[in-house]
Amino acid sequence: MYIGHYAAAAALLAVAPETPVLPIAVAVAWPDVVWSGLVASGVEKVRVDPSSPLQSTIRFTWYPYSHSLVLSAALTLIPALAFGLIYQSTWVGIAFWLGAVSHWLLDVPVHGKDLPILGRVGSRDGRGDRFVGWGLWSRPRLAFVAEYTFFALVALTTAPRSALVGLLAGALLLHLLNANSFFGFTRGNPTGTPRRYAGFALAGFAAAIAWFTLAWQ
Ligand SMILES: [Zn+2]
Repeated sequence: MYIGHYAAAAALLAVAPETPVLPIAVAVAWPDVVWSGLVASGVEKVRVDPSSPLQSTIRFTWYPYSHSLVLSAALTLIPALAFGLIYQSTWVGIAFWLGAVSHWLLDVPVHGKDLPILGRVGSRDGRGDRFVGWGLWSRPRLAFVAEYTFFALVALTTAPRSALVGLLAGALLLHLLNANSFFGFTRGNPTGTPRRYAGFALAGFAAAIAWFTLAWQ
């Protein structure tokens, strides 16, 4: 999931409007930011099918540090503490943690059954762990419409009026830039390798962080 994660950011900011936007925009992307770095350094594993751009063909084979419910939530206490200290606010730390945990929850509907619950890094291939994911990505057209609709509905009910145009238009633009992974316009996967795929994801989230932070005013 990509822009859909910003529905959680919008909800958090609606609950506590005084919260600075940037740490929340980073928080909902955090697991994927960490994931990009860990894939690039070879710690976490992903398999990219060079012959297909579709999101459903990406195999997330090993990502317990960035994308498990329990271990990732525990590890996220570190950046949450850092953001709390930077902003001199306990709430910013808590909100960062909530935003980062929401990422895993919102990944569950779209991912295949590859999201670990515990994140058992000691066991080979996460054996003994449970994996969840409802697999909406295997119905890409529905997934494409559902992700934008979900974001738009949450934004419409939570965002300040003045921010709505920027939020809805920016989300649509970013979602359209990601459309190849839903509709398969290209024959092969333009990224091709795990490292380049991770770099592409990181660039996408950097753009999303900038968009959301600027749009939410
Ligand atoms: Zn993710």
